[in-house]
Amino acid sequence: MTTSGQLILKKLVSIVGAEHVLLASTDDLSGYERDWRGRVRGKALAVVRPADTAQVSAVVSACLEAKKNGLSISIVPQGGNTGLVLGSVPDQSGQQVVLSLSRLNKVLAIDSANLTITVQAGCILQAIQQSADQAGFLFPLSLAAQGSCQIGGNLGTNAGGTQVLRYGNARDLCLGLEVVTAQGAIWSGLSGLRKDNTGYDLRHLFIGSEGTLGVITAATLKLFPKPLATLTAWAAVTSLDAALQLLGIAQKQLESGLTGFEVMGGFAVSLVAKHFPQQRIPLWQPDPILSERGYFVLLELADAESEQHARQRFESLMEQAFELGCVIDAVVAESLSQAQALWHVRESIPLAQVEEGLNIKHDISIPISSIPQFCASTDAQLQKAIPGVRLVNFGHMGDGNLHYNVQCPATGLYAQDAKGFLARYEEQVHSIVYDSVAQFGGSISAEHGIGALKRDALTHYKSPIAIELMRSIKKALDPIGLFNPGRVV
Ligand SMILES: Cc1cc2nc3c(=O)[nH]c(=O)nc-3n(C[C@H](O)[C@H](O)[C@H](O)COP(=O)(O)OP(=O)(O)OC[C@H]3O[C@@H](n4cnc5c(N)ncnc54)[C@H](O)[C@@H]3O)c2cc1C
Repeated sequence: MTTSGQLILKKLVSIVGAEHVLLASTDDLSGYERDWRGRVRGKALAVVRPADTAQVSAVVSACLEAKKNGLSISIVPQGGNTGLVLGSVPDQSGQQVVLSLSRLNKVLAIDSANLTITVQAGCILQAIQQSADQAGFLFPLSLAAQGSCQIGGNLGTNAGGTQVLRYGNARDLCLGLEVVTAQGAIWSGLSGLRKDNTGYDLRHLFIGSEGTLGVITAATLKLFPKPLATLTAWAAVTSLDAALQLLGIAQKQLESGLTGFEVMGGFAVSLVAKHFPQQRIPLWQPDPILSERGYFVLLELADAESEQHARQRFESLMEQAFELGCVIDAVVAESLSQAQALWHVRESIPLAQVEEGLNIKHDISIPISSIPQFCASTDAQLQKAIPGVRLVNFGHMGDGNLHYNVQCPATGLYAQDAKGFLARYEEQVHSIVYDSVAQFGGSISAEHGIGALKRDALTHYKSPIAIELMRSIKKALDPIGLFNPGRVV
């Protein structure tokens, strides 16, 4: 290592203490260097774990000074490292400092009258949900990675999850931020205001910027009254058209009580049945017509009156759905544990895919009304290009977000060689899917972000003017490229 490299490490140790500067020579950095899907492992100069905002600011200032003095150094802010677009892991250069926010994990305040909670950025999402719950409120951001992802990462990616159709995404749930800028300054914008038109809304620049514009160190978030009853139902439908019809009547009948509407293709559910046979999947029959080619829908209803009232509303919804013929069969969870088991099936799909082997992932959004047409058209194009290819299609249909993943055919050349399949087809499959997304007026990233994975695709599919504006913002806030270079733009 060069002398200036050793100097910056010494400086970082003086800021956060030796035990919080982790080095490959003495520590196991795999959890910080490898992405969640295990597709890449980078090489960090060091992993630095500051204890508070002042230390984050000092770390950023020290790296900035070293960079100005000619050291090729940059910072990768990291939360729970559950991101799926290679935005939170270092590159191969060995010159990036991973700035882990995990020690900034305190709930700072709950304001019951203002319906807000203020937390440090390293708070695990599930811990925030629990703190809100203990105070008698709901914090509705909810996703399968909630046991490990951090609110700083959720805001950094503008995470979506399962309740977006009712409460919006992370951006909609955030009222204020505290951010360490690329100059090492601390912007204290922890306002709990719902109205504040004093110029540009800086908060929205940092939300969704994936660690490229600043380090989020704390946030003020919206709380909601807890619903008196929450019910979950599981329905089998024959097609995406039927799922769309069910969504329409559910929105009409349940209005804002409809908090979740997840769709799962039969093949996606079959992977859960195959790899986690201990899970009980309602209405599942290993019948290629009824199950594997059909779809399942998970609906969640939050009711402000009572459980009985919620059940009546679900019953009336299902009656209409049966009459219209859009639902083949349905069950409503009888208890909290049954509801959790239903959600567990849905949340196990990404893990079942990992067990099945590498696949080509897409996190896309499509105008909800076009989802059936989009899938029919894109499925046909993919089958034509790669006969027998398997589609793991599931997602948050209520907000138009599909995880439209492509798995190699079960037989033939690549059946036992998912890596080879990706090497041969990944680019072609992305082009087919993203061209189709563009044709239907959708987005190539609904909720996971851009990171390093979709940077080229962003440049291809986003308008040149939008890209130019984004680059101007990056240049204005981080002129020497200290934060997460090579990500997003
Ligand atoms: C099983 C599974 C299910 C998932 N389901 C969903 C889902 O339903 N909806 C969804 O939106 N996502 C989902 N994700 C993706 C992922 O969980 C989210 O993107 C999450 O918001 C990332 O949070 P994190 O703390 O792990 O961030 P990380 O992965 O550590 O970082 C993600 C990005 O944010 C930046 N970042 C992290 N912390 C900060 C900070 N404090 N300040 C500034 N930038 C920061 C990083 O540099 C990186 O670019 C899922 C992932 C998994 C593994």
